[in-house]
Amino acid sequence: MNLILFGPPAAGKGTQAKRLVTGRGMVQLSTGDMLRAARTSGSELGQRVAAIMDGGLLVSDDIVIALIEERLPETEAAGGAIFDGFPRTIAQAQELDKMLSARGAAIDLVIRLKVDDAALIERIGKRFAAEGRSDDNPEVFVTRLAAYNEQTAPLLPYYKDQGKLVELDGMATVEAVAEAIDAALASAGK
Ligand code: AMP
Repeated sequence: MNLILFGPPAAGKGTQAKRLVTGRGMVQLSTGDMLRAARTSGSELGQRVAAIMDGGLLVSDDIVIALIEERLPETEAAGGAIFDGFPRTIAQAQELDKMLSARGAAIDLVIRLKVDDAALIERIGKRFAAEGRSDDNPEVFVTRLAAYNEQTAPLLPYYKDQGKLVELDGMATVEAVAEAIDAALASAGK
């Protein structure tokens, strides 16, 4: 099964993805985590994306598509992939469809976690205090939210038209969201 966890930054995608990894043996593919790892390792790629990430903007489609492509084989051996923070543009979504279809696979379900902006800003304030991630600072976060609204939210009709979109209340507790995700997967026969 290939699942996209969709939503703005701090919607709870990473938390829910980790639960699915533990519970179902799926592989979490978080482009944000991959890019942060590249930065920590000091690689050329990491250096190239650092300023863009710190400014809250999206890195180029080519970069994240290549990162995902490299990891697809391992997801097939496992229970499938959970895409977390990818795709974020229409071009990324189209390329993902192509890469999967070349492997005889497809996106099965897109689960959107709906959280209002005020709650996101509150969550991110807490995460910034706890983890100190530079792009969680309140000013950069505004840019990240704008990038989501302008470049990523247009993917919703793309998946809705394909009949793959399920929308859940991401403001509920972590446990309630987890149950709602399980119910969505069960009703999709997964
Ligand atoms: P995230 O942890 O998913 O919020 O990602 C952190 C940052 O990494 C984003 O603000 C972007 O700069 C970059 N990034 C992560 N995933 C993508 C993507 N799919 N497309 C473009 N940029 C991305």
